[in-house]
Amino acid sequence: MNRRKFFLASSAILGVLGAGAIYWPTRWKYIVVHHSAGGFATIDFLQQIHRERQSGDPIDAIPYHYVIGNGHGLGMGEIASDWRKDYDIWGAHVSGNNTARNLLGLGICLVGNFETSTVPPKQYEALVALTRTLMKRYNIAQENVLGHGLIRGESTKCPGSKFPFDKFRREIGADAA
Ligand SMILES: [Zn+2]
Repeated sequence: MNRRKFFLASSAILGVLGAGAIYWPTRWKYIVVHHSAGGFATIDFLQQIHRERQSGDPIDAIPYHYVIGNGHGLGMGEIASDWRKDYDIWGAHVSGNNTARNLLGLGICLVGNFETSTVPPKQYEALVALTRTLMKRYNIAQENVLGHGLIRGESTKCPGSKFPFDKFRREIGADAA
């Protein structure tokens, strides 16, 4: 489904449901951090991969809500979104074992492969800032922010063993103490 078709369909549904219009954009409860596993990405490039690998997805937009660039394609620390975020549509970034994390979870993808290299500081800082903003905006608890592979039922190393999760966890919770 493209952006226009989704807009028309969801307008009709929300028109009928009424209250859904209030609930829909504020329902986010989880944040899931991913890496792209490749060194280069733009929104167009990720759309192409999504079409090839997730051809069953009814939404023709990248599976994540945010992408943070590494200077190859997108700028270093640049945050980009596709229309999946514009309309607050569910994600397609975790497996069917964790439907709630797709329906209620914002997916953030860092461009890069953190199995093989470390996260560049500028990109990491952009992730911390974005995560903190989203936690505040949607009232998301610190324990609901996870790396993809840390979620039970997901068999992936994403976002890579060099992603500094403990440090990240500490830094996004600094205000809460
Ligand atoms: Zn992932």
